[in-house]
Amino acid sequence: MMMEHILITFLACFVIFLICYIGRMHQKIQRLHNDKDHDTLTGAYNRTGFIRRTEKIIQDCTVSDELCVLFFNIKGFKVINELFGLDAGDKVLRQSVELLQTSQLKPLLTARIEADHFVCLIRQSNLIYDELVSLCHRTYVMDDKQFNFYCRCGIYMVTDKTINVSSMFDRAKLAKEFILDDYAQPYAIYDNSMRDGFVAKNELTSQLLRALKDNEVKVYYQPIYEAKTKKAVSAEALVRWENSQMGQLFPGQFIPILEENGYISELDLYIANHTTEFLRNRTAQGKFTIPVSLNLSRKDFYNTKMIDMLISNLRDTYLPVGYVCIEITESAYASLAEHNSEILNMIKKMGVKILLDDFGSGYSSFSAIQDFDFDIIKLDIGFTRQIGVNKNAEWIIQSIIDMSHHIGSKVIAEGVETQQQADFLVGMNCDYIQGYLYSKPLSQPEFENLLDRYQETIA
Ligand code: C2E
Ligand code: CA
Ligand code: CA
Repeated sequence: MMMEHILITFLACFVIFLICYIGRMHQKIQRLHNDKDHDTLTGAYNRTGFIRRTEKIIQDCTVSDELCVLFFNIKGFKVINELFGLDAGDKVLRQSVELLQTSQLKPLLTARIEADHFVCLIRQSNLIYDELVSLCHRTYVMDDKQFNFYCRCGIYMVTDKTINVSSMFDRAKLAKEFILDDYAQPYAIYDNSMRDGFVAKNELTSQLLRALKDNEVKVYYQPIYEAKTKKAVSAEALVRWENSQMGQLFPGQFIPILEENGYISELDLYIANHTTEFLRNRTAQGKFTIPVSLNLSRKDFYNTKMIDMLISNLRDTYLPVGYVCIEITESAYASLAEHNSEILNMIKKMGVKILLDDFGSGYSSFSAIQDFDFDIIKLDIGFTRQIGVNKNAEWIIQSIIDMSHHIGSKVIAEGVETQQQADFLVGMNCDYIQGYLYSKPLSQPEFENLLDRYQETIA
């Protein structure tokens, strides 16, 4: 009887405790959900919360040590989502917060400020670089798949407490852009010369926008040859900037800056307009011409003005169907959302050939060709360079050509510079060849000459 009584009392206490505990947990979760200062996915601060708390710490001088702001970005986060799914992506984000909070950096505050961007406020005395490096080298394992990835970290030492916290983020974020080797040193510390470089980049962007108006930007055309007949059958439009002070500038010198600053579509639209106008004029004059492919950037698919213009150009009855083709790199294709790859499908249905550029250079080569019927696959220049050098690469080239033919795509080998490379590719049944061996990119008058000469031989 006594035992029963004790047991009932114990059970009653336990049930009351459980109800209180669940109630408190529920309140806690509710608070977190309603909390405008926290990120619901990870439980860390969000941007607003982090700014508010940091301002308070700086104002109240609650921490005597010098402080620093760390800005982290997961490199290739989209690939994790792609390879393992969104749940895995969420898990990586939550793990990132946990890793930072429990690290030897002992952050005073940790926040996820957007997508895969995290910031921490730490004491400078806790900035242990070895710990930072190991935090940045990450591995994700699921089932039997393993994926190594990196975080990059920009650091702003809070030397000027009068600037606002957002500017501190910006400075740390800017420093991140100056990391040279993700593996050896995945971090960089902000200094004012970085800001000067940033100003220079903006200066270059505004100069290029002016150059577009002043027609300093030119389209060059690199012919693409049929491997067996050595006849130019199409061409690729490549941009050149004929700068009045700096001379001729190549795309590598300004395209990354335009992509970063969000102006790449202005340039691509300009190249598309000039190319189609050139083709239209020649066709209208009854002159011989060949199809030309345009390089599109990932960002173009998010720019409705660009897409509308392309579509209206393609509907232009003065330009024969198939005379404009589109090149998209495999990494750009991989980062397109479903809606944007639909746009690509729609363009293809209009008779436009879609080329997959730089095939074999990224992580997602095979998933790209599984998902979309590319008309032509452009073998990355890196493979061509291995011809006669690396037997394995030669086998890979042969397999890629065979595989492309099986799935109904043709192959262009890029960057062909030697006869040995060309002979190998012809032997492997490669369809087309592009490279300095046959022709460098030509200015418009030079390209016109080539087309006129062809017209004469045909006539
Ligand atoms: P890409 O699309 O892979 O273009 C091929 C690049 O290889 C061109 O460099 C071309 O000049 C170069 N090339 C061609 N044959 C050979 C060769 O035999 N040997 C070597 N070493 N190189 C060769 P370019 O013109 O400097 O263009 C670089 C990249 O800039 C292009 O790579 C493309 O991704 C981008 N790009 C060029 N024009 C545009 C454009 O109008 N819009 C966009 N979004 N990107 C462009
Ligand atoms: Ca290209
Ligand atoms: Ca290429």
